[in-house]
Amino acid sequence: MKVKADPKLVQKGLMLPLMEAFYTIQGEGYHKGTAAYFIRVGGCDVGCHWCDVKESWDAETHPPTAIGEIVEEAARHSDTIVVTGGEPLTWDMGPLTEALKEKGMKIHIETSGAYPMTGHWDWVCLSPKKNKLPVGDIYGRADELKVIVYNRHDLKFAEEQAARVRPGCLLYLQPEWSVREKVTPFIVDYVMAHPKWRVSLQTHKYLNIP
Ligand code: SF4
Repeated sequence: MKVKADPKLVQKGLMLPLMEAFYTIQGEGYHKGTAAYFIRVGGCDVGCHWCDVKESWDAETHPPTAIGEIVEEAARHSDTIVVTGGEPLTWDMGPLTEALKEKGMKIHIETSGAYPMTGHWDWVCLSPKKNKLPVGDIYGRADELKVIVYNRHDLKFAEEQAARVRPGCLLYLQPEWSVREKVTPFIVDYVMAHPKWRVSLQTHKYLNIP
């Protein structure tokens, strides 16, 4: 049953501005190559100039959707869920993750960490951005740190961010897609010289899947 959109329900995380949801293969980071259901939540004010989902930024353009509907659809596809955006932590993720957990799902988040952590997560991918740094205790909760590399200066930023995560957090450098031919060679050299890092590629784009 469709629930009527109500700003108060969005504020409480009982409805979320849903941009899209789809079953695909995780292309990036530690879980690359594995099937998962992606829930892309609208709304982000981080403003990365190279963002490849700029259409997610304006939450107003994405219909407030009851979390019950989102979870029901997710349950039909997979027991592994990736919540992404936009910036999902713009919203209270508590109710959505509780409802997914009730169905016994494993829940991953992809976040810049620009807003305080809410929700219950089995895997936290922190992808910090220079123009709106992570807040709160998210560095201590990240399972993987994924730094997008657009230019050489991003390697310095990556080291600064790596110094803040907990021991055992996996470290990834990922070429920004539009400049991948330029940056991949120096990322490869950097990872060979600093093997605590791994290369992450957007393999879903090579596979031509969402
Ligand atoms: S944080 Fe993510 S969604 Fe937001 S602008 Fe940056 S890349 Fe785009």
